[in-house]
Formats: sequence, C-alpha cells, structure tokens
Amino acid sequence: MEELHIKWSQENNLVYLHIKEEKFYFEAPNGYNIHEVDEDIKELALFHLLWYMGFFEKEGSYEQPSYIHKNITKPISGKNIGLSFSNGCDSAATLLCLPPEKTIPIYCCRDFSKDSSIKTINKIKQLRDNKNIVIQAQNYNYNALKFMKKANIHNLQIINNDFELIRPYMMDNVSYGFKTGIGYGAILILLSKFFDIGYITFGAISESVFLGTGHRFIDVIDKHRSGESLIIRWKRIYKAYGFDFFYALGGCSEIITSNIIKNSIFKNTACSCNIKILSDKNYCGDCMKCFRNFGMNGQMIPYNNNWGWVLYKFPLKMATSTIYACQKGTYTNEFIEQYMHLDMSYLERYYGPYLEKEDDNIIALVPDDFRDYIKNKLKEYGIEPMNENDIKNLKNCGDYYDNDKYNNLNIKTIGDVKLLLSNNK
Ligand SMILES: [Zn+2]
Repeated sequence: MEELHIKWSQENNLVYLHIKEEKFYFEAPNGYNIHEVDEDIKELALFHLLWYMGFFEKEGSYEQPSYIHKNITKPISGKNIGLSFSNGCDSAATLLCLPPEKTIPIYCCRDFSKDSSIKTINKIKQLRDNKNIVIQAQNYNYNALKFMKKANIHNLQIINNDFELIRPYMMDNVSYGFKTGIGYGAILILLSKFFDIGYITFGAISESVFLGTGHRFIDVIDKHRSGESLIIRWKRIYKAYGFDFFYALGGCSEIITSNIIKNSIFKNTACSCNIKILSDKNYCGDCMKCFRNFGMNGQMIPYNNNWGWVLYKFPLKMATSTIYACQKGTYTNEFIEQYMHLDMSYLERYYGPYLEKEDDNIIALVPDDFRDYIKNKLKEYGIEPMNENDIKNLKNCGDYYDNDKYNNLNIKTIGDVKLLLSNNK
C-alpha cells in the first residue's frame, strides 16, 4: 500500500484522493471537510476502491480491511441511512420503503469532465496499451438527472466524481467502473459522518440478492451454508467499522418494486431504462428493461432482435421476472414456451425470511431498527409475504432455469437467433 503514496486533499468542494501520480475527485457538499474524516473510515472507503488488487491482507482467500484482522467491532456510528440511489425502479422503491426523515439518497454521478479526470484518462491510455479499454463521454446520467429533477426528491445528494477511473488506472484489461455495485459505497462511507449515516443500503432486489445471476436460489442469509456468502462477509466488514449494510428490499422481486412505483409519487419519474430518453416519458419502449416492465403489467412492446435475442438464450437472464413478464404480456418463443406453464405468482409476494430477526440459522439481512417500518410499508403497498408453497417454488426455480435440459435451442449469439428466425419463415 505504501508504494501507492495515498493522500487526501481538498480544494473548496473538490476532495481529491491521490494515488501514485494521479488524483481522483468527488465533489463534496458545502461545509464538508475530508480532514475531519477518521482514518479508519478512509481505509474502509479505500477497501471498496482497491478491492482485490493485492493491497489488503487476506483472511482465508479473501482480502479484508485491517479491522477484520484485528477483530475490532465498533458500535453503529450514526442514525441515518445512506441509500446508494440510481433513480431506477428498484432504488426508488427502496427509498419509498425507508423512513424519509432518516434516509439520505445519494446519487454518485459519473463525471470525467474535470481537468484532473482528463489528465488521468490520458495517463490510463498511455499506461494501458490495450484495445479493450473504453473511456468515452456518454449519456450514462442523462435519464437519472432529468427525472430526478422532475421528481424533486427529498434530501437527494448528487455527488459528481471520477472514482470509476481508479480501476483502469490500477489494472490492465478493465474498463472504468467498480468491481461490483458495492463500490458506490465508498462515497457514502466518506460522507457518513457529515450526514450522520450509520446504515448503508442499496436498491438491490431478490433477483440479485437471493437468485445469484437471476435463475437459481442461493440462501445468502443461511448461517450454516458452506462458505460465507458475500453478503454476510460485507456485513461483517461494515460492522467492524461501525456501520450496518443491508438491502432494504432484498427479498422483493422486480415485480414488487415495479408495483410499488406504479402506485407511488415516482410513477412518472423512476426510470430503469438505460437508453437516453428525449421525450417526457420515463421509458424508451424499445429495450429489454422496457419489455419486462411493460410485460409485467400485461402489455407488450414490439419484439426487436437487438435486445430481444437474449429471450432465446439459456440460461435466461433475470429468468424469473422475465418469464413472469412473458406470461402476463403473452409473449412466447420456442425456448420461452418451455417455461410458460410455471406458476410465477410467488414473485408478487416477498420472501419473508429476509425481514426476520437473527436466530441460530439466519443472519438478519435488515437491521432491527428498520424491520417493522419496511414490513408496514410493504403492507401499505398491498404486498404480502410468500406462503409455504411460494417459498418452495422460489427455492426450486433453478430446476427449470438452471437446468441444461431446457437448453433446447443452444443459442449463443444474436446471429444464432437471426438464423433461427429466418429458418422458421
Ligand atoms: Zn427502455
């Protein structure tokens, strides 16, 4: 770590993290001072940014920050919740299910336009002689910034930053971005003392929390499973530094978050679509996310090979909610047809154990302080917990979606689908 010459500095609202000869910035709110942030908090933030680059000692085969090795555990350091906010349906629904007076939604806005960012990008191009690196001006924040303005979100913080340039600066063969979504936590952690944040949450849903890649159940809160789940490990790390980390809607499907949004103040502003939308509508009507969103509500957008070819590919991406959308919107094809008879209605209800208290068998995914609040909010939106049969269906979904027997078309590329469709004509 010493060879990185890490240093923090601040010029007005711009906070710089210096690594070797370059510096990376985030734009802090008025009154913030990086020099008032404790060293251990800075270390935890760095752990997010430099994860698996070989700078942290290992515990078993996993890199861990120093407090884990020293067995330190700090009490929760603040009363508020920092929500990593994207303005997509999942994080907007998460915001609606948390106490508004305690929740600070923080939008980490990718901004590579500062002089220091441009200098870093040039350095990266010089250092990393590879063709895979893509750093371009793009429309990544366009929809979010436009619709967040319209939504006028209470407490919202928009934090411009270029921390996503750290990985390609440090490593070969990676583009900008974080190793995983939890990387955004770095900025929330650095702002924690300023906003009295003790809890950090993300807008992740059951498809990513309990269904791994979206097509088979993994019991990530089970204490007895072989090998600690990533969630349990991150919770342990956060607790060591005086935070709790959770997924407020981690047991709710995309169907549920979409239903919450549909019945909320965000129905015209939450936007999961990644295509730049020039109209006032919060959907493009021509992408996979829009296909699922419309399908869930019993409507279908016209099929388009450019995105729709993945509806032929095994294992099906976001299989559970995609099949739910196909059933409701009555879209099918030779591959999807195999799944059309399945009862997917369990996705309309939440996986109860995720909101349970800790016991000998499971860890508490959601902190005690917010469990009842979230339960009541879900109830307000008319969302019930799953029954026994639902849970059985959820746990067995891999029998269909993660079972090679269903790979009837062996589609690998968009070309395969084009060929298949032309042969069918
Ligand atoms: Zn779209």
